[in-house]
Amino acid sequence: MTRLIGVAFVLLVATTLESAAQEATPAGLTLHQGDVHIVKIGGGMNASDVQSVLDTGGTPTAIPMFTKDGALYGIVAVDLYQEPGTYHMTVYETTTKRALSTRTLIVEKGEFQKSISSTWNTQVFDQAALDRIAREKREITGALQISSPLPEWQDGTTYPIEKTDRTGSMTTPFGQIRMNPTQEWYRFHRGTDFQAPAGFAIQAIAAGRVAHLGRDYLLEGNITVIDHGAGIFSSYLHQSAFLVKVGDRVKKGDVIGRVGSTGNSHGPHLHLALRIGGALVDPIQFIEALRQL
Ligand SMILES: [Zn+2]
Repeated sequence: MTRLIGVAFVLLVATTLESAAQEATPAGLTLHQGDVHIVKIGGGMNASDVQSVLDTGGTPTAIPMFTKDGALYGIVAVDLYQEPGTYHMTVYETTTKRALSTRTLIVEKGEFQKSISSTWNTQVFDQAALDRIAREKREITGALQISSPLPEWQDGTTYPIEKTDRTGSMTTPFGQIRMNPTQEWYRFHRGTDFQAPAGFAIQAIAAGRVAHLGRDYLLEGNITVIDHGAGIFSSYLHQSAFLVKVGDRVKKGDVIGRVGSTGNSHGPHLHLALRIGGALVDPIQFIEALRQL
């Protein structure tokens, strides 16, 4: 069942760059929480000529941009926790700071798979564990503060686990709502899980630089964070082994670690998480949107 949903989901978001960009009318764009969408910003422009920002109420965030076949594109990302509403994307001229165009972005509630079980959200952490989780979270957040200004993903993306009969399928989708019937609150699954046995090779989803290695974190286990430039970071959780060091340059598809079950995990698998300009988004939408580059 989970696998069927996964396949349907991938087909749904598998659009080419051109068809994806055509959906964005000058008037506006409607996206859901956790969505990643490519918009065409204009022809005959360089990424250095203009700046694009997304204003969702707090500090406006830069929209990562790249050029392809003479046209400039932006990667619009909506955070999983973004309050539904009407927001704005503005393109500015870099030198004069003059606004060239503004588009409306309507954010709707995400349509996520629901998992209801009495085993969800029952873990109890003592103060020492909570302190450790907070410290480890600060270490990860710290690594996300500095990103290369260059779009390192220019040669496209790939899946992190090679697809074979027994590996690579999605076992739990991004955004899954995990609800315990005895509680009124729930948690989101903050990444995408892929099936693979312990020791299986984990590949970088795009080119970049290794920004952080977290060893034996309480929740994430062994985690590698890769900076893909312009504020885009991918994270690979629960690894049994690291195969890169902080500062290493990686190419798309390079093996960066091995699948494991370290941290808060019930069996070997890869949990892939993605942040774009701080927004936590669906990694598969990013991989599919940029696979065609
Ligand atoms: Zn997961």
